[in-house]
Amino acid sequence: MSSKHPCIKDGWFNEVSDKSFPGQAFSLKVNKILFHEKTQFQDILIFESSNYGNVLVLDGIIQVSEKDEFAYQELISHVPLYSHENPKKILVIGGGDGGVLREVVKHSCVEEATLVEIDAKVIELSKKYLPNMACSFKHPKVNVKLCDGFQFLRDVAESGTKYDVIITDSSDPEGPAEAFFQKEYFELLYKALTENGVVIAQASENVWLNLEYLKTLLNTSRSVFPVAEYCYTMLPTYTSGQLGLIACCKNPNTNLIDPCRAPTEDEQSQMRYYNNKMHSAAFVLPTWARKVLNPL
Ligand code: SAM
Repeated sequence: MSSKHPCIKDGWFNEVSDKSFPGQAFSLKVNKILFHEKTQFQDILIFESSNYGNVLVLDGIIQVSEKDEFAYQELISHVPLYSHENPKKILVIGGGDGGVLREVVKHSCVEEATLVEIDAKVIELSKKYLPNMACSFKHPKVNVKLCDGFQFLRDVAESGTKYDVIITDSSDPEGPAEAFFQKEYFELLYKALTENGVVIAQASENVWLNLEYLKTLLNTSRSVFPVAEYCYTMLPTYTSGQLGLIACCKNPNTNLIDPCRAPTEDEQSQMRYYNNKMHSAAFVLPTWARKVLNPL
């Protein structure tokens, strides 16, 4: 394990990407490096920050911080789950920190949640350093598969297995998650969904940083699904304080924007970001972005 990392200088972690966000950077003050190693898939760094708790970084990009992770995990999980009348069989692609699984099993109607993670090391390290996220791996409804999510979906398409909700909680396109941002991936998602099924995918960008890229990704998903909408969550540790998601469904009558179920009192008491009003609000875009992403 290395006690140094190229993104840490003078006690600050710096997230810099000339491709995704040229001319700007996001920095967090580092108390100490907890882990740094390259696996066969990616560079993994975990550090203790001064204000955001422990932080997981893959290939130089922040994935989660203990302080604000709930804003991401709750929105990406509960938007598709409350857009479905009775979601029973759930698939999570990626998500090795366990935060999405934690949210999925809050729904008592869920009977089975399968998580497909390519890198076992992310799960192992999350159990050690991010225990509040990795708390549901032993839940009786949870199965974990250690393999490539894209290949898993190809096998699913052949076997005919279907899921009510599929959540792509992947890292960004540069690295092992590259295939998740291509048309073939959306086609595989379509095949793996039940007729009233809903999918949501991390879109890796937001309207401030790369609107044209989002337009292309949304058009790709709209060429496969009859309904595909952009929504977003707000949290400080993603560049520009926002992260986009693309939600899609097979049934043209499904309304992704107005949830068809409300959290029970018990479910709501376990949520800090999601509520039904936040669900609908996550789809409302500022005028300049709406003109590009939802021009009609
Ligand atoms: N919240 C995060 C974000 O968008 O910044 C995503 C978090 S989660 C840690 C991303 C996970 O996707 C990682 O653990 C990574 O190993 C996994 N992943 C990347 N490519 C994958 C693939 N092809 N199949 C399965 N899992 C993959």
